[in-house]
Amino acid sequence: MKTLSDAFEHTLQDIYYAENALTKALPKVHKAANGKELKAAIADHLEETKNQVKTLDKVFKSLGKKPSGVKCDAIEGLIKETEGIIEEASGVAKNVALIAACQAVEHYEIARYGTLREWAKVLGHSEAHDLLTSILDQEKAANSKLTNLAVSSINKK
Ligand code: FE
Ligand code: ZN
Ligand code: FE
Ligand code: FE
Repeated sequence: MKTLSDAFEHTLQDIYYAENALTKALPKVHKAANGKELKAAIADHLEETKNQVKTLDKVFKSLGKKPSGVKCDAIEGLIKETEGIIEEASGVAKNVALIAACQAVEHYEIARYGTLREWAKVLGHSEAHDLLTSILDQEKAANSKLTNLAVSSINKK
């Protein structure tokens, strides 16, 4: 990695790996979560995540590159931590801890997409910039939804 363009491509591959890993991890989180509202929020974001993979395919295509991933240690760690909660937490602690774990993932994604879309912009990849911004907005909305769920009802239980 020597240039901004290299860093951009590497980080795009990193988030591509992460989104694919999340499509496999979220069904387990969905199964573990309790209550209609939280389950629905997770199910919705799973569908969004599958679409994000498709949007990333378009980003690669707009750059004339084949979609590919490189292992993201950060998402592997966050998923591992979440799996620990699924195994160990019970009662009311389970839902609050699962929301916290999901929000850690959303914050990671927000950081990545914020960086990527700005790099796309300075590199002159305007289509990639717009596509990455659309995913960033979804991640921010998913995070806000989880905050609202936690603050308005689940924390109080
Ligand atoms: Fe995502
Ligand atoms: Zn990553
Ligand atoms: Fe990474
Ligand atoms: Fe997300």
